[in-house]
Amino acid sequence: MTLNVDGKRRAVFLDRDDTVNRDVSYLRSADQLELLPGVIEALQLLGDAGFLRIIVTNQSAVARGIITIEKLGEIHEALVAMIRNGGADIDAIYFCPHFLEGSIDEYTIKCDCRKPMPGMLLRAAEEFNIDLRRSFMVGDRPADIEAGKRAGCSCFFITSGIDTDLAGLPPGQQPDFVVDSLLAAAKIITDTDD
Ligand SMILES: [Mg+2]
Ligand SMILES: [Zn+2]
Repeated sequence: MTLNVDGKRRAVFLDRDDTVNRDVSYLRSADQLELLPGVIEALQLLGDAGFLRIIVTNQSAVARGIITIEKLGEIHEALVAMIRNGGADIDAIYFCPHFLEGSIDEYTIKCDCRKPMPGMLLRAAEEFNIDLRRSFMVGDRPADIEAGKRAGCSCFFITSGIDTDLAGLPPGQQPDFVVDSLLAAAKIITDTDD
């Protein structure tokens, strides 16, 4: 069951690029969106098991002036529509538009939400009443793992993205599981679900 005695929800936090959709390096329009294989099935499995499915994504492209925040919103609407057309769903998308060396003043700040900081997960936990200790983070970069660990989640590293020397990572970035896709992570999460 996915509710604790105290009524808290469980969530699977998902990185966006190279976890849900293919990373095209600063994706700037909805027509560049391509879901990775198995993502729909993975989101269905997680949803059926009662997990919230929440994307947490660094989008420094906004601070860098590559895309506007309105454009990012359009892209995220299109991403959710694509997932719903496939028969699955996303419960929320949190994004960090900030970057310390950006060119748009408003977003050129040191924030607490850019991964590896856990701000997006902590905010989601408050807004959705999530038990972080019984939740998961899935991503393809060490910063995803570190953000998940800082928030108290169990973490999955997806190896499909850039080549990362896992053994060389510091303790705070060591994943609990290493998998080749979101679907593989979803199967482990739902198989071991108590
Ligand atoms: Mg990624
Ligand atoms: Zn931020």
